Amino acid sequence: MNRPRHPVYWDPEIETLPRERLRALQEQRLRRTLAAAARSPFYRRLFEEAGVAVEAIRGLEDLGRLPLTTKDHLRQGYPFGFLAVSREEAVRLHSSSGTTGRATVVLHSARDLEAWAERMARCMYMTGARSSDVFQNMTGYGMFTGGLGFHYGSERLGMLTVPAGPGNSRRQVQFMQDFGTTVIHAIPSYAFRLLAVLEEMGIDPRRDLDLKTAYLGAEPYSEETRRRVERELGVRVFNSYGLSEMAGPGVAFECPEQNGMHIWEDAFLVEVLDPKTLTPVAEGEEGELVLTTLDREAMPLIRYRTRDLTALLPGPCPCGRTHRRIDRIKGRSDDMFIVKGVNVFPIQVETLLMGMPEVGRDYRIVLDREGDLDVMTVEVEVRREMFQGDVKSLKALREKILAALKSEILFTPRVQLVEPGSLPRTEGKAVRVLDRRRGS
Ligand code: AMP
Ligand code: ZN
Repeated sequence: MNRPRHPVYWDPEIETLPRERLRALQEQRLRRTLAAAARSPFYRRLFEEAGVAVEAIRGLEDLGRLPLTTKDHLRQGYPFGFLAVSREEAVRLHSSSGTTGRATVVLHSARDLEAWAERMARCMYMTGARSSDVFQNMTGYGMFTGGLGFHYGSERLGMLTVPAGPGNSRRQVQFMQDFGTTVIHAIPSYAFRLLAVLEEMGIDPRRDLDLKTAYLGAEPYSEETRRRVERELGVRVFNSYGLSEMAGPGVAFECPEQNGMHIWEDAFLVEVLDPKTLTPVAEGEEGELVLTTLDREAMPLIRYRTRDLTALLPGPCPCGRTHRRIDRIKGRSDDMFIVKGVNVFPIQVETLLMGMPEVGRDYRIVLDREGDLDVMTVEVEVRREMFQGDVKSLKALREKILAALKSEILFTPRVQLVEPGSLPRTEGKAVRVLDRRRGS
């Protein structure tokens, strides 16, 4: 028989483990992980080359002596070079096609998949999801880890799980109405698509649907986007962070405080490093997230450079969980582009745009070269009413966007206002930047 669940925590002991005991657990798991990693062909060689004897690594203070692992290493180890168990013990393979360079794979044992499902259940339970909920999973199944990750977590938690997948939005809405969906998972760009379809169908989600919670993740989005989706869909939005290399979602997740994501430190050792010097930055400062798996047997990864930029938030969280929180991901270090010598992240543009009520649900940044000059054009979908009003208000909006962008990025880009639905849509994660400067 199932024992009754704690009313707040899925795994009360682990979630509220005092920091010093959490550290002891991490050290014990680190030693086990290193011993396992040394059994994989790739790490055996990497440790040898770095002159590291894993037995000599006893505690967290020794971490800096271990070599970092990069995406390039994963490519070199493709497909089975990182396997730390026998091929027979691996039961799942996820491959990322990688828009740049060769593919990579991540392998899981049955126990790894169990641990992942448990962690996902922990994340969702934390936000108030219970077995009485109906969960509609609107992300891709298959190689994209968001689909299967949430799916197994939701079943583990006991929710009625609807594996809807992405797209076919009218059918999604029908499901929501018929099944009384209360919780959804989507990537942010799809949440916007769904809002557009609801509008077309004349359905007010706040009145006509039972939705109360949405998990959004897998791509960067701003606080303004969160508030917008919350307002328009009538839900609370929780940020979900993960990456295929660390199984997928379930690395870090927001609690009801909605102020940073708890990163599960029983499963991951967290470092935030200066991407140039590769030394730790101070708490609260931004750097690259570097993660070591602590409970993975098939494919342990040591000090993996995620390329994601974030900061560890100082201080304990009022929710009582002792695992530290990371800030909203600003983007990957490779998302940044340089125009006229200025470093720009798409999220800076998004934050400004989504804070303006006249702005619609999509935008795109196009980079061109004219002669020797870089030209940045921001294409912005604006609300349909704006095109029905007089030209003056469109002009005024354009001026407002220009001024806001100028004060954020310190030069004046071009701004083009377009009708809702006119920017190209992508399957899966949104493509925010179209760089046409090369090869032209
Ligand atoms: P993938 O392994 O292909 O699913 O992609 C993982 C990457 O997606 C991460 O390394 C991040 O760059 C990005 N990502 C995932 N979740 C979030 C999130 N909540 N906010 C911002 N970026 C995210
Ligand atoms: Zn919390």
